Amino acid sequence: MTSLDDLPIRDDLRGLTPYGAPQRKVKVALNVNENSHGIPEDVAHDIVRGVAEAILTIHRYPDREFTDLRERLAGYLGHDLTAENIWAANGSNEVTQHVLQAFGGPGRSVLGFPPTYSMHSILSAATGTQWVEGARDPGFEISPETVVREIERTRTDLVFLCAPNNPTGTGMSLETIEAAYDATDGIVFVDEAYAEFMPTGTPSALTLLEGRPRLVVSRTMSKAFAFAGARVGYLAADPAVTDALRLVRLPYHLSAITQAAAIAALGHATEMLAMVDDIKAQRDRLLVELPRLGYSPWPSQANFVLFAGVADPHRTWQDLLDQDVLIRDLGIPNSLRVSAGTEAETTAFLAALSGTDGALP
Ligand code: PMP
Repeated sequence: MTSLDDLPIRDDLRGLTPYGAPQRKVKVALNVNENSHGIPEDVAHDIVRGVAEAILTIHRYPDREFTDLRERLAGYLGHDLTAENIWAANGSNEVTQHVLQAFGGPGRSVLGFPPTYSMHSILSAATGTQWVEGARDPGFEISPETVVREIERTRTDLVFLCAPNNPTGTGMSLETIEAAYDATDGIVFVDEAYAEFMPTGTPSALTLLEGRPRLVVSRTMSKAFAFAGARVGYLAADPAVTDALRLVRLPYHLSAITQAAAIAALGHATEMLAMVDDIKAQRDRLLVELPRLGYSPWPSQANFVLFAGVADPHRTWQDLLDQDVLIRDLGIPNSLRVSAGTEAETTAFLAALSGTDGALP
């Protein structure tokens, strides 16, 4: 049988492993931080109408500039942003890839702070950008002093900050982002995939964009908008940044179907976001209930919780799977991550976990 190593593959891809969250058919899937509420039926019908209309002109290439979608996204974000500030792609993973293609690449480097979203380092490798690891403070925090110290130590071309951070749920102060910006001449990329789940009133890095042309704030419709299957991510930045991204995107990268679906969904933003408060309540319930079962959850500003105190993470993960509950083992010692689901799913998870006897003594 031919293996990867038999192929004339790029040397820097040899030995790498692809992104690999297990996909299993289970009753309770709380493993990839989706919004398990699904979308309201009336919104679904509106999306179908929008997509049906797009199909009538599907023999033509879509609007390469996805202008309507960018206007809608700017309107959703607020902060006086306009379409010129917005970029979008097939999931924020592709947005991140565009940023690395334009500002990273061979001979360039990016600073990240593990444990963090695994695709950041995978996309760095795929674009030939060197991934450099910075150290966090205790409790996964990153203070302004720490971010400056790590930037000055590593001197990379890009700095990736994930706020709130996946997989730990840790929030980040605006002071840290400002300090990072001032300490580097490179691009500061803030991944805000989980911004809508932050405590009410927590300011977004979007508030820092004015006057900071090297700051990029990325978002996704996958989480708060329950739109993971549609693949729509976006960013806000100075118009010069979006001009740079035009150099690396594939022409017509956002299909007419994707654009129509996202535009229809954004027309119902309030309704689409109605589940966010429920999900935050279930996350807060996990933070209260997990200690009662002997585990130690980390504070979370996202739609998931990382909890420590697991004697044998793989065994507990398997015990839960045997009960039709899928969560995530990220290889963090004595820890597992669970997404906040519906009330019923959270109940099922807690009931299954209490039967596993998996906490450290
Ligand atoms: N950023 C972070 C921090 C994430 O956790 C995820 C999804 N797990 C993404 C980006 C990618 O989201 P998508 O490509 O679905 O927009």
